[in-house]
Amino acid sequence: MTKAESSTGKMINHYVNGEVVTGTSGRQANVFNPATGEVTAQVALAAAQEVEMAIAAAEAAYPAWRATPPAKRAQVMYRLKMLMEQNADKICELITSEHGKVLNDAMGELQRGIENVEYACGVPELLKGEHSKNVGPAIDSWSEFQPLGVVAGITPFNFPAMVPLWMWPMAIACGNTFVLKPSERDPSSVMYICELAQEAGLPAGVLNVVNGDKEAVDVLLTDERVKAVSFVGSTPIAEYIYQTANANGKRVQALGGAKNHAIVMPDADIDNAVSALMGAAYGSCGERCMAIPVVVAVGNEVGDAVVAKLSAELATMKVGPGTDNNNDMGPLITKEHFKKVSGYVDLGIEEGAELVVDGRNLVVAGHEEGYFIGGCLFDKVTPEMKIYRDEIFGPVLCVVRAESLQQAMDLIDAHEYGNGTCIFTRDGEAARYFTDNIKVGMVGVNVPLPVPVAYHSFGGWKRSLFGDLHAYGPDSVRFYTKRKTITQRWPSGVRESAVFTFPINS
Ligand code: NAD
Repeated sequence: MTKAESSTGKMINHYVNGEVVTGTSGRQANVFNPATGEVTAQVALAAAQEVEMAIAAAEAAYPAWRATPPAKRAQVMYRLKMLMEQNADKICELITSEHGKVLNDAMGELQRGIENVEYACGVPELLKGEHSKNVGPAIDSWSEFQPLGVVAGITPFNFPAMVPLWMWPMAIACGNTFVLKPSERDPSSVMYICELAQEAGLPAGVLNVVNGDKEAVDVLLTDERVKAVSFVGSTPIAEYIYQTANANGKRVQALGGAKNHAIVMPDADIDNAVSALMGAAYGSCGERCMAIPVVVAVGNEVGDAVVAKLSAELATMKVGPGTDNNNDMGPLITKEHFKKVSGYVDLGIEEGAELVVDGRNLVVAGHEEGYFIGGCLFDKVTPEMKIYRDEIFGPVLCVVRAESLQQAMDLIDAHEYGNGTCIFTRDGEAARYFTDNIKVGMVGVNVPLPVPVAYHSFGGWKRSLFGDLHAYGPDSVRFYTKRKTITQRWPSGVRESAVFTFPINS
């Protein structure tokens, strides 16, 4: 047995009905520190009965939680926000130890997650209904937004704390109870935040966490007690989630993968654009769904300048363990993913792209077993290449050259994904034309990562999102509630003869 395969003695279990519950399936997976390649824990992989227990706990907690006034539910959110801020360093250490991202970057992730909790603090205001008096003689009508019941969330590895916080705070603030299935690759920050939620006063059973893989997910997609499913992850799985949960009568939102393009116009401030692109392409080792893995340079002069400046910047980019905030970029998440990303760099060369900066073969002293790869830069990439079409999800930036803004936009529109995009320009007219017409859900103008703030909603177009409503923000209030419209006559003492025609407003 190698060091990497040996048992650590640290077991990450499930959180059901307000307590840690030991996994009983007998199945488990290793959790690694990607900076060292060492196994740091085993995570329990839930069997169907264990997920069913979590659903049962959520269902039992639902009536009392639904009846809890929204202002009281908001108070729990407020205390949770304070607790997360007080314990931010510990949460970030957990994120970095399993994901690998640099601590400062983990802090940014956590901050964006906390903003969703802050938004959920406003739930009494957000749940206010719509009221109309005298819609008919002595008749009033109103719409209210009722919770759905038990809802589920399934989340990816790349934002282990933030993406779950897109989902469950608003879902439970709206009066639902929740079963979360986080990524099995880095579950510790989720488990800790769940403990903080109990400390904040969340009653047992309102938030449950089951660790696991497809076996656990499939129960959440098919069990009739689960009324809605939020998913964030890769597109093939998002499509499967959407179709399966939909076929089982659930409301579903499934956010998928991305290949975000940044256009650099001839009039752009190239130095600023290149600084912005460095962070957007290589931050978090390119493992962000809003990362920029493609630059479309409009005009060859722009292309040459961007490639030259990016190469110079890459020569100074620091790669190393995320525990050292002096590093710009940490390792990839797993050995398999490392092999996949390196394989794409090999493929790009075979496909005829020009590898200007080669990050393969990077060795980080003292971390030789870590999953580190340096930043890679390809020039002369064309739309037929797989390195252009596929989501690589690593620090590999492709430069494509276009002759005009329209040609650059046509490329983006033809791509299967439509998550984020950005234009670098000083030309307001070009920016306006771009934002008006591009077929992408989140658009930046001189902003490389246009991730909406918590009081807007997050979501892509095309095969980056299956479903109608986006994640968090106002759309999440609609996603996690059902509209009910009540029409009432009161007092009802007037005696009327039977009316057989359709009621009209008179
Ligand atoms: P993934 O699709 O492999 O896993 C996501 C979740 O689905 C995990 O909880 C995993 O356990 C579960 N899962 C995996 N295989 C499954 C299967 N066959 N059946 C049922 N469930 C399954 O994604 P990942 O590698 O963890 O995350 C990276 C991906 O997530 C990238 O594609 C990235 O673009 C995407 N992502 C998208 C957004 C967005 O908002 N659009 C945000 C973050 C990440």
